[in-house]
Amino acid sequence: MTLHIPFDNSYGRLPERFYARQGPAPVPAPKMVKVNDDLARELGIDPDVLRSDDGVAVLAGNAVPEGADPLAQVYAGHQFGGWSPQLGDGRALLLGEVVDTSGTRRDIQLKGSGRTPYSRMGDGRAWLGPVMREYIVSEAMHALGIPTTRALAAVTTGAPVLREAPYPGAVLTRVATSHIRVGTFQFFASRQDEDALRRLTDHALARHYPEAEGALGLLDAVISAQAKLVAQWMGAGFIHGVMNTDNTAISGETIDYGPCAFMDTYEPGKVFSSIDQFGRYAYNKQPDIMVWNLAQFATAILPLIDKDQNTAIEVATDSVNRFPELFRAAWLEVFRHKIGLADVEDGDAELIHRLLDLMAKGEADFTNFFRALGGNDAVDQVLDREAFDAWAADWQARVDRDSGDAADIMARANPVLTPRNHRIEEAIEAGVAGDFAPFERLHGALAAPFDEDDATEDLRRPPAPDEEVRQTFCGT
Ligand code: AMP
Ligand code: MG
Repeated sequence: MTLHIPFDNSYGRLPERFYARQGPAPVPAPKMVKVNDDLARELGIDPDVLRSDDGVAVLAGNAVPEGADPLAQVYAGHQFGGWSPQLGDGRALLLGEVVDTSGTRRDIQLKGSGRTPYSRMGDGRAWLGPVMREYIVSEAMHALGIPTTRALAAVTTGAPVLREAPYPGAVLTRVATSHIRVGTFQFFASRQDEDALRRLTDHALARHYPEAEGALGLLDAVISAQAKLVAQWMGAGFIHGVMNTDNTAISGETIDYGPCAFMDTYEPGKVFSSIDQFGRYAYNKQPDIMVWNLAQFATAILPLIDKDQNTAIEVATDSVNRFPELFRAAWLEVFRHKIGLADVEDGDAELIHRLLDLMAKGEADFTNFFRALGGNDAVDQVLDREAFDAWAADWQARVDRDSGDAADIMARANPVLTPRNHRIEEAIEAGVAGDFAPFERLHGALAAPFDEDDATEDLRRPPAPDEEVRQTFCGT
């Protein structure tokens, strides 16, 4: 069986300073871990052929399929606020693009496929743990309805990858509407390459925001997409963990799952990442950090916004300053749904914040609390029952005034299941030992996160103290 992927590449037609063209580095013994059948079909790829020896060879980087044009994309970025003038795909290769069954252009990228000119000190490889983690979390995000890159497949390579110890090497095949980052624009801006900025802007507009016009149109569209995205992260209790500008996608999709995590206990200032010493990317800082990242984006494209720098700065500043308002509106919509409200009323924000305060003080489990809201279990999770009863009375009055069906709205807004860190770790540990049953089970359950199913009851349980994952690692 020969693997056929209906490639239709456009990034590779951009000038050569946008990338380094090169093939993946071969691996000794590729083995299939998982193929995403539905996504493969969406991309016009036969999942059974993807699973065959031919397919596995491609997914591991041992063969380059017809029509592919493998290249490493260049970018720069602010990492934890510090400027890195030269980053780029150091362990990833864009195989090419396909136009999917709905007409959307999607990138197919191998992650962990060997060194590139942008690898710096890295080995260009990934190990099985982070590959499984990204597979589980990105697919869970998709099932939750949050814009994200997707996982098409995972394979092991048969070669060890040396981190704190040797681990099984792996390659993730990632799918994105594009891998263009704020950092991609910053790369060209820092080189004062206006021609490249213009081409990149046109390319990004055509792919993501065809209805928008010019650099200012792109800026406004990205600001609006990111406001909605971060609001959805907040509603799911998701912490990205490395919101560097090179990990902020122009498409508005969640990208680059490293030390990300879903909160168990609600703690507004929660940080999981082992490298985030100062809590720069804490849960409640995410909207502010996104403004900062978008300001960097605006700065990068200033010369395209207006020839007069002062005018450009004025106009771009106005746009970036609209983020807080857009975010607040998106956040309110998300959390209104979480408490079962369809209509908009003054005082809703205060009602939600009062509840979040009670949850924080009571150390409520973020996912389970919202799911239980309205039932008898919710109140058991907050310590201050008197305050909760007072809140619940106000909430009930507000629900009574609302035109929506609160129970139904809440059942669709509050998942039963999120990928809890201890379950991910458990699946990785088993996978490293060669047993992918826990991975299959977890991934399978997370495909229907709003369904109550007795068979997955154990996956809803917060971690016991000895199961709790307190830190997550970048996984490079
Ligand atoms: P990340 O932390 O995944 O956002 O990556 C930041 C930068 O480091 C990007 O340019 C990556 O391509 C690069 N990088 C991360 N891990 C590796 C690795 N194992 N080998 C080479 N480059 C890497
Ligand atoms: Mg990255």
